[in-house]
Amino acid sequence: MRVLILGGTAEARALAAELAARGVHVVSSLAGRVSNPRLPVGEVREGGFGGPKGLATWLREHAVDRLVDATHPFAARMTASAARAAGATGVPLLVLRRPGWPAEPGWQRVGSLQEAAARLRAPARVFLTTGRRSLPVFTGRPGIWLLARSVDPPEPPIPPNVHVVLDRGPYTLEGELALIREHRLDVLVTKDSGGELTSAKLDAARLLGMPVIMVDRPPPPAGVRLVETVAEAVAWIEGAGAQG
Ligand code: NAP
Repeated sequence: MRVLILGGTAEARALAAELAARGVHVVSSLAGRVSNPRLPVGEVREGGFGGPKGLATWLREHAVDRLVDATHPFAARMTASAARAAGATGVPLLVLRRPGWPAEPGWQRVGSLQEAAARLRAPARVFLTTGRRSLPVFTGRPGIWLLARSVDPPEPPIPPNVHVVLDRGPYTLEGELALIREHRLDVLVTKDSGGELTSAKLDAARLLGMPVIMVDRPPPPAGVRLVETVAEAVAWIEGAGAQG
Protein backbone atom coordinates (compact mmCIF):
# COMPACT_ATOMS: atom_id res chain seq x y z
CA MET A 1 0.00 0.00 0.00
CA ARG A 2 1.55 3.29 -1.13
CA VAL A 3 -0.13 6.47 0.00
CA LEU A 4 0.56 10.01 -1.14
CA ILE A 5 -0.47 12.67 1.37
CA LEU A 6 -0.78 16.22 0.11
CA GLY A 7 0.25 18.05 3.23
CA GLY A 8 1.23 21.32 4.82
CA THR A 9 -1.06 20.94 7.83
CA ALA A 10 -0.91 19.49 11.35
CA GLU A 11 -3.47 16.85 10.29
CA ALA A 12 -1.28 15.76 7.39
CA ARG A 13 1.67 15.30 9.75
CA ALA A 14 -0.46 13.37 12.23
CA LEU A 15 -1.77 11.12 9.46
CA ALA A 16 1.73 10.45 8.13
CA ALA A 17 2.84 9.43 11.63
CA GLU A 18 -0.21 7.17 12.17
CA LEU A 19 0.21 5.43 8.82
CA ALA A 20 3.99 5.03 9.15
CA ALA A 21 3.44 3.42 12.57
CA ARG A 22 1.14 0.91 10.83
CA GLY A 23 3.77 0.05 8.25
CA VAL A 24 2.10 1.87 5.36
CA HIS A 25 4.48 3.37 2.79
CA VAL A 26 3.74 7.08 2.97
CA VAL A 27 5.08 9.96 0.93
CA SER A 28 4.12 13.45 2.12
CA SER A 29 4.09 16.28 -0.36
CA LEU A 30 4.72 19.90 0.60
CA ALA A 31 4.28 22.94 -1.60
CA GLY A 32 7.72 24.20 -0.61
CA ARG A 33 6.56 27.73 0.21
CA VAL A 34 7.53 27.94 3.88
CA SER A 35 11.24 28.48 4.44
CA ASN A 36 11.50 26.17 7.45
CA PRO A 37 8.51 23.80 7.30
CA ARG A 38 7.52 21.41 10.05
CA LEU A 39 8.33 18.07 8.48
CA PRO A 40 6.23 14.91 8.80
CA VAL A 41 7.83 11.58 9.60
CA GLY A 42 8.70 9.44 6.60
CA GLU A 43 9.45 10.31 3.02
CA VAL A 44 8.87 13.90 1.91
CA ARG A 45 8.82 15.53 -1.52
CA GLU A 46 8.56 19.27 -2.10
CA GLY A 47 7.22 21.56 -4.80
CA GLY A 48 4.25 21.70 -7.16
CA PHE A 49 3.49 18.81 -9.53
CA GLY A 50 2.70 21.02 -12.51
CA GLY A 51 -1.09 20.96 -12.30
CA PRO A 52 -3.47 17.98 -12.44
CA LYS A 53 -1.61 16.35 -15.36
CA GLY A 54 1.68 16.54 -13.50
CA LEU A 55 0.11 15.04 -10.41
CA ALA A 56 -1.51 12.28 -12.46
CA THR A 57 1.88 11.42 -13.96
CA TRP A 58 3.44 11.40 -10.49
CA LEU A 59 0.72 9.07 -9.17
CA ARG A 60 1.28 6.63 -12.04
CA GLU A 61 5.08 6.75 -11.94
CA HIS A 62 5.16 6.13 -8.19
CA ALA A 63 2.45 3.44 -8.25
CA VAL A 64 0.36 5.29 -5.66
CA ASP A 65 -2.59 3.23 -4.35
CA ARG A 66 -4.38 5.93 -2.36
CA LEU A 67 -4.27 9.72 -2.40
CA VAL A 68 -5.14 11.82 0.65
CA ASP A 69 -5.55 15.54 0.19
CA ALA A 70 -4.82 16.88 3.67
CA THR A 71 -3.91 20.38 2.51
CA HIS A 72 -5.19 23.49 4.23
CA PRO A 73 -8.93 24.19 3.76
CA PHE A 74 -7.98 27.28 1.70
CA ALA A 75 -5.56 25.44 -0.60
CA ALA A 76 -8.30 25.24 -3.23
CA ARG A 77 -6.08 24.88 -6.29
CA MET A 78 -4.27 21.88 -4.89
CA THR A 79 -7.57 20.27 -3.84
CA ALA A 80 -9.07 20.81 -7.30
CA SER A 81 -5.93 19.43 -8.89
CA ALA A 82 -6.06 16.33 -6.66
CA ALA A 83 -9.69 15.68 -7.65
CA ARG A 84 -8.87 15.93 -11.35
CA ALA A 85 -5.74 13.77 -11.10
CA ALA A 86 -7.62 11.13 -9.11
CA GLY A 87 -10.37 11.13 -11.74
CA ALA A 88 -7.85 10.76 -14.56
CA THR A 89 -5.87 7.92 -12.95
CA GLY A 90 -8.54 6.07 -10.97
CA VAL A 91 -6.48 6.43 -7.77
CA PRO A 92 -9.01 6.69 -4.90
CA LEU A 93 -8.96 10.12 -3.27
CA LEU A 94 -9.91 11.15 0.24
CA VAL A 95 -10.04 14.79 1.33
CA LEU A 96 -9.14 15.26 5.00
CA ARG A 97 -10.34 18.69 6.02
CA ARG A 98 -10.65 19.80 9.62
CA PRO A 99 -14.04 21.33 10.48
CA GLY A 100 -14.45 25.08 10.37
CA TRP A 101 -14.91 27.08 13.57
CA PRO A 102 -18.47 27.19 14.95
CA ALA A 103 -19.94 30.51 13.80
CA GLU A 104 -20.54 33.17 16.41
CA PRO A 105 -23.31 35.79 16.31
CA GLY A 106 -20.93 38.75 16.20
CA TRP A 107 -19.00 37.58 13.15
CA GLN A 108 -19.35 39.13 9.74
CA ARG A 109 -18.95 36.24 7.31
CA VAL A 110 -17.64 37.07 3.86
CA GLY A 111 -16.97 35.04 0.76
CA SER A 112 -13.57 36.42 -0.19
CA LEU A 113 -10.55 38.38 0.98
CA GLN A 114 -11.67 41.26 -1.24
CA GLU A 115 -15.04 41.35 0.47
CA ALA A 116 -13.31 41.31 3.87
CA ALA A 117 -11.19 44.30 2.86
CA ALA A 118 -14.27 46.15 1.62
CA ARG A 119 -15.95 45.70 5.01
CA LEU A 120 -13.20 47.61 6.84
CA ARG A 121 -14.19 51.08 7.96
CA ALA A 122 -11.54 53.72 8.67
CA PRO A 123 -10.15 54.44 11.11
CA ALA A 124 -9.28 50.86 12.06
CA ARG A 125 -6.37 48.99 13.56
CA VAL A 126 -6.67 45.54 12.03
CA PHE A 127 -5.42 42.20 13.30
CA LEU A 128 -4.87 40.44 9.95
CA THR A 129 -4.17 36.69 9.90
CA THR A 130 -5.18 35.73 6.36
CA GLY A 131 -1.67 34.85 5.15
CA ARG A 132 1.23 36.85 3.81
CA ARG A 133 0.21 36.55 0.17
CA SER A 134 -3.14 38.21 0.92
CA LEU A 135 -1.56 41.37 2.33
CA PRO A 136 -1.84 43.45 -0.92
CA VAL A 137 -5.63 43.01 -0.82
CA PHE A 138 -5.75 45.02 2.42
CA THR A 139 -3.08 47.69 1.94
CA GLY A 140 -3.37 51.18 0.50
CA ARG A 141 -6.59 52.10 2.30
CA PRO A 142 -6.46 55.45 4.10
CA GLY A 143 -7.02 55.16 7.85
CA ILE A 144 -6.51 51.38 7.89
CA TRP A 145 -3.51 50.26 9.96
CA LEU A 146 -2.63 46.56 9.76
CA LEU A 147 -0.87 44.16 12.04
CA ALA A 148 -0.18 41.30 9.64
CA ARG A 149 0.86 38.04 11.25
CA SER A 150 2.37 35.32 9.09
CA VAL A 151 4.80 32.41 9.19
CA ASP A 152 7.19 33.89 6.62
CA PRO A 153 7.62 37.59 5.76
CA PRO A 154 5.38 39.12 3.08
CA GLU A 155 6.99 40.24 -0.18
CA PRO A 156 8.66 43.62 0.21
CA PRO A 157 8.11 46.52 0.05
CA ILE A 158 6.00 46.57 3.21
CA PRO A 159 3.78 49.69 3.16
CA PRO A 160 4.20 52.13 6.08
CA ASN A 161 0.79 51.38 7.61
CA VAL A 162 1.68 47.68 8.03
CA HIS A 163 3.39 46.10 11.01
CA VAL A 164 4.50 42.50 10.36
CA VAL A 165 4.65 39.92 13.14
CA LEU A 166 6.30 36.61 12.23
CA ASP A 167 4.91 33.67 14.16
CA ARG A 168 3.39 30.28 13.43
CA GLY A 169 1.59 29.30 16.60
CA PRO A 170 0.15 27.49 18.37
CA TYR A 171 -1.14 30.63 20.05
CA THR A 172 -2.42 31.15 23.59
CA LEU A 173 -5.26 33.31 24.84
CA GLU A 174 -2.85 35.29 27.04
CA GLY A 175 -0.52 35.89 24.10
CA GLU A 176 -3.33 37.00 21.80
CA LEU A 177 -4.80 39.34 24.42
CA ALA A 178 -1.36 40.89 24.99
CA LEU A 179 -0.80 41.40 21.25
CA ILE A 180 -4.23 42.98 20.76
CA ARG A 181 -3.76 45.30 23.71
CA GLU A 182 -0.18 46.25 22.88
CA HIS A 183 -1.14 47.35 19.38
CA ARG A 184 -4.65 48.62 20.28
CA LEU A 185 -6.17 46.39 17.59
CA ASP A 186 -9.90 46.89 17.10
CA VAL A 187 -10.99 44.40 14.41
CA LEU A 188 -9.88 40.86 13.55
CA VAL A 189 -9.80 39.73 9.93
CA THR A 190 -9.18 36.03 9.53
CA LYS A 191 -10.24 33.02 7.50
CA ASP A 192 -12.13 29.99 8.66
CA SER A 193 -9.13 27.68 8.89
CA GLY A 194 -10.59 25.77 11.85
CA GLY A 195 -8.58 23.81 14.39
CA GLU A 196 -7.26 24.58 17.83
CA LEU A 197 -3.74 25.74 16.99
CA THR A 198 -4.88 29.18 15.85
CA SER A 199 -8.26 29.60 17.55
CA ALA A 200 -7.05 31.61 20.58
CA LYS A 201 -7.47 34.85 18.62
CA LEU A 202 -11.20 34.13 18.43
CA ASP A 203 -11.39 33.56 22.19
CA ALA A 204 -9.55 36.85 22.69
CA ALA A 205 -11.88 38.69 20.30
CA ARG A 206 -14.92 37.27 22.11
CA LEU A 207 -13.57 38.32 25.50
CA LEU A 208 -12.79 41.83 24.31
CA GLY A 209 -15.97 42.28 22.27
CA MET A 210 -13.79 42.82 19.19
CA PRO A 211 -15.53 42.55 15.80
CA VAL A 212 -14.50 39.60 13.61
CA ILE A 213 -14.58 39.49 9.83
CA MET A 214 -14.40 35.81 8.87
CA VAL A 215 -13.60 34.70 5.33
CA ASP A 216 -15.54 31.53 4.48
CA ARG A 217 -13.80 28.45 3.08
CA PRO A 218 -13.96 27.63 -0.59
CA PRO A 219 -16.27 24.63 -1.12
CA PRO A 220 -14.65 21.26 -1.88
CA PRO A 221 -14.92 19.95 -5.45
CA ALA A 222 -18.23 18.18 -6.12
CA GLY A 223 -18.36 14.47 -5.43
CA VAL A 224 -15.16 14.08 -3.40
CA ARG A 225 -15.10 11.84 -0.35
CA LEU A 226 -14.54 14.09 2.64
CA VAL A 227 -13.61 13.33 6.28
CA GLU A 228 -12.81 15.65 9.17
CA THR A 229 -10.47 13.61 11.36
CA VAL A 230 -7.19 11.78 11.09
CA ALA A 231 -8.83 8.68 12.62
CA GLU A 232 -11.37 8.56 9.79
CA ALA A 233 -8.58 8.88 7.23
CA VAL A 234 -6.64 6.04 8.87
CA ALA A 235 -9.79 3.89 8.80
CA TRP A 236 -10.23 4.62 5.09
CA ILE A 237 -6.66 3.55 4.33
CA GLU A 238 -6.94 0.45 6.51
CA GLY A 239 -10.23 -0.47 4.88
CA ALA A 240 -8.60 -0.10 1.48
CA GLY A 241 -5.75 -2.38 2.62
CA ALA A 242 -8.22 -5.02 3.79
CA GLN A 243 -9.85 -4.94 0.34
CA GLY A 244 -6.41 -5.61 -1.16
P1 NAP B 1 -2.98 26.32 -3.48
O1 NAP B 1 -3.19 27.75 -3.86
O2 NAP B 1 -4.13 25.42 -3.49
O3 NAP B 1 -1.86 25.68 -4.40
C1 NAP B 1 -1.17 26.36 -5.41
C2 NAP B 1 -0.21 25.38 -6.04
O4 NAP B 1 0.83 25.03 -5.12
C3 NAP B 1 -0.86 24.06 -6.39
O5 NAP B 1 -1.54 24.14 -7.63
C4 NAP B 1 0.35 23.14 -6.42
O6 NAP B 1 1.13 23.36 -7.57
C5 NAP B 1 1.17 23.66 -5.26
N1 NAP B 1 0.86 22.96 -4.01
C6 NAP B 1 0.01 23.31 -3.01
N2 NAP B 1 0.05 22.43 -2.01
C7 NAP B 1 0.93 21.48 -2.38
C8 NAP B 1 1.40 20.31 -1.75
N3 NAP B 1 0.97 19.93 -0.53
N4 NAP B 1 2.32 19.56 -2.43
C9 NAP B 1 2.77 19.93 -3.65
N5 NAP B 1 2.36 21.06 -4.27
C10 NAP B 1 1.46 21.81 -3.65
O7 NAP B 1 -2.27 26.23 -2.06
P2 NAP B 1 -1.78 27.38 -1.06
O8 NAP B 1 -2.97 28.01 -0.46
O9 NAP B 1 -0.76 28.18 -1.78
O10 NAP B 1 -1.07 26.50 0.05
C11 NAP B 1 0.20 25.93 -0.20
C12 NAP B 1 0.49 24.91 0.88
O11 NAP B 1 0.50 25.53 2.16
C13 NAP B 1 -0.54 23.78 0.93
O12 NAP B 1 0.15 22.57 0.93
C14 NAP B 1 -1.30 24.01 2.22
O13 NAP B 1 -1.62 22.81 2.88
C15 NAP B 1 -0.32 24.86 3.06
N6 NAP B 1 -1.01 25.87 3.85
C16 NAP B 1 -1.84 26.75 3.26
C17 NAP B 1 -2.49 27.69 4.02
C18 NAP B 1 -3.45 28.67 3.40
O14 NAP B 1 -4.01 29.48 4.14
N7 NAP B 1 -3.71 28.63 2.11
C19 NAP B 1 -2.28 27.74 5.39
C20 NAP B 1 -1.41 26.81 5.98
C21 NAP B 1 -0.79 25.88 5.21
P3 NAP B 1 0.97 22.44 -8.90
O15 NAP B 1 -0.31 22.89 -9.54
O16 NAP B 1 2.19 22.78 -9.67
O17 NAP B 1 0.92 21.00 -8.46
